[in-house]
Amino acid sequence: VSRGVPAQLPSAQQERAIVTSSGTAPTIVWLRRDLRLADQPAFAAAAESGAPVIPVYVLDDDVAKKYAMGGASRWWLHHSLASLDADLRKLGSRLILRRGKVHEELAKIRRDTGARTVHAVRHYEPWWRNAEKAVAKVLSLECHDGNYLAPPGSVTTGSGGMYKIYTPFWRALSERMPPHDPLAKPHKLEAPAHWPASDDLADWDLLPSKPDWAGGMREEWTPGEAGARKRLRAFVEKARKYEESRNLPSIEGTSRLSPHLHFGEISPATVWHAVADAGGSVRTFLGELGWRDYAQNVILQYPEYGSRNARDAFDAIKWRHATTELKAWQRGQTGYPIVDAGMRELWHTGWMHNRVRMIAASFLVKHLLIDWREGERWFWDTLVDADYGSNAVNWQWIAGTGIDSNMFVRIMAPLTQSPKFDAAGYIRQWVPELKHLSDEDIHDPKRAPKGYPEKIIGHAEARARALAAHAAMKEEA
Ligand code: FAD
Repeated sequence: VSRGVPAQLPSAQQERAIVTSSGTAPTIVWLRRDLRLADQPAFAAAAESGAPVIPVYVLDDDVAKKYAMGGASRWWLHHSLASLDADLRKLGSRLILRRGKVHEELAKIRRDTGARTVHAVRHYEPWWRNAEKAVAKVLSLECHDGNYLAPPGSVTTGSGGMYKIYTPFWRALSERMPPHDPLAKPHKLEAPAHWPASDDLADWDLLPSKPDWAGGMREEWTPGEAGARKRLRAFVEKARKYEESRNLPSIEGTSRLSPHLHFGEISPATVWHAVADAGGSVRTFLGELGWRDYAQNVILQYPEYGSRNARDAFDAIKWRHATTELKAWQRGQTGYPIVDAGMRELWHTGWMHNRVRMIAASFLVKHLLIDWREGERWFWDTLVDADYGSNAVNWQWIAGTGIDSNMFVRIMAPLTQSPKFDAAGYIRQWVPELKHLSDEDIHDPKRAPKGYPEKIIGHAEARARALAAHAAMKEEA
């Protein structure tokens, strides 16, 4: 727990006036990607203080600059906030919505209500770390850990440094597991004598309207804490078979908890404790939660990881500026069925199966030789689980540009991966032009059926081009 030094305190006289008119000074819970009540340490601490609690979400459109939330995330956020507000109302509380600079809005609430303390869950995106510093200048900020298995930065090597490579990181993190027992949801949150003003969620325009492209997302997802719990319950039954099924996009073998975890609707400790005794290959699943922690450790060390090659040598690679091909990839029109199925699943539901994310990302970077940052941007805008750390770490891993990454010269063959992971059913679902093809032909149609594009580039040709670009980069270095 860190305490910020409060600055610009109201005079003792002002303070007395506020507190006398409203009883005990309330405390603020500042919410970001921690939109839950159970195992939410900021709510737990505020409830325990006995003071009235004011839960606040501030929509700060400028805080993250080019990492302003993408369209799919905004859709999710709307529903998650609505769900949290409904849950808070059951406890006699409510969610206050404000738009503007976080520290200014929280300072205004302080002025209006006499609140002096802010409880928050600590975040590690560079812009949130800056915002925490700004808030700590105007209020007494208490940051709590709880969105990761272990506080990022706290898992260190023998010499006290942070890990750069996943495997030793996971080994060290595992030694500290299991995580804490999840905190109970507060039974009651004391309301302040006067609620500060709140925006109306509908006025924030987080939902798409013209056109409304979110139909597929509505079908697939239930944002909010109850939706997260439901997904977890459904997954507990499957957790022991995770290893066998997680790479098969035609079946639902993974948890689909990623957007819920990203928005903090469920804590990783809760997920861990729910599945840890499932037996079978559940350990592989826990290792994926470990990747999530690892990604935060990376952005803590390299705040610009989302936009900068970790291996400088890659600054010299000649990426192609191929707008039409980038568009074909984005729309699922490359002529590679597994890639197109994935990109269409993403467009429709805001999510893509991990195995297919790897294939589609590799295809962009190596087959099309397009800068991984173009892919990172597209995922940022279209994924409901778009997460600065996880997205950047995975893109740099695939591209070979990261601190802990696959080698660039290992080029994935989508046409081999597709039958290997039994993707026929998945392709049929997302690329209906191919649905009449046999299980054998669907991965690599001999002739493109009507309405489906020819391959944008042949595999052998693409591979040779990528290897040549890599060799030229090496020569330049
Ligand atoms: P499960 O297999 O059930 O795993 C459980 C949880 O572990 C996930 O919900 C997620 O929180 C975490 N996890 C699993 N795999 C990874 C991983 N490789 N890296 C980090 N955390 C992981 N994941 C995101 O949450 N946000 C992103 O923006 C994101 N971008 C990606 C970009 C690329 C190019 C690739 C290849 C992967 C990306 N991933 C991202 C990781 C992974 O694809 C998703 O976390 C996973 O598909 C989510 O599905 P699930 O919840 O069913 O996962």
